[in-house]
Amino acid sequence: MSISDETFMQRALALAEQARDRAEVPVGAVLVRDGTILTEAANEVETRQDATAHAEMLAIAEAQALLKTWRLSGTTLYVTKEPCPMCAGALAHVRVDRIVFGVSDPKAGACGGAFQLFDLPGLNHRCEITKGVLRDESLALLQDFFRQRRAEGEMASEDESSGQDNLSAQDKTKVVQSDQPQCQPALSGAPEKAQRPECSRRSPASARGKLTAWKTR
Ligand SMILES: [Zn+2]
Repeated sequence: MSISDETFMQRALALAEQARDRAEVPVGAVLVRDGTILTEAANEVETRQDATAHAEMLAIAEAQALLKTWRLSGTTLYVTKEPCPMCAGALAHVRVDRIVFGVSDPKAGACGGAFQLFDLPGLNHRCEITKGVLRDESLALLQDFFRQRRAEGEMASEDESSGQDNLSAQDKTKVVQSDQPQCQPALSGAPEKAQRPECSRRSPASARGKLTAWKTR
């Protein structure tokens, strides 16, 4: 870890804190080139009501617009939490040289936490990865956020599962596979309305999985 890594991660943490203050899952990202911050962003999933509005996605989208090219070679992306599969894939597509993240995500991290996207043999670009930079600070921010949300009892609605809390995704998938009806449209010519099961039931178990994800780390 270099001093500059810590410096840029401090900025990403400050952005994550700003996200927290907007009731967003606190994740911040900074895109750096030649030792200078090119763009920066925080999670805005709730603000924009856009599930793809993760900090990493916003930072690279802005950089592409700024530089008028999708190729972001020569850049390093600092992010407080390990990128999810969507963001890691995007970072590979735009050819970021290096990814530096704070806390690992053992449930949905795509840079070695849950799996390693860059092990895919067919991937035409590989990012160098550095993990654990200001890990404790990044983790504490997330833990405090979810602890407070639990205390406020705001985690019960289905809508709130759409944040950058990727850790809930696997839990929910398991629930669907085990005891939830399958939400598939009718395949035959039978009336779809009659065939389609009720899919809105929410499992308390999935909510608990979400709430305790960071607590158990
Ligand atoms: Zn992501």
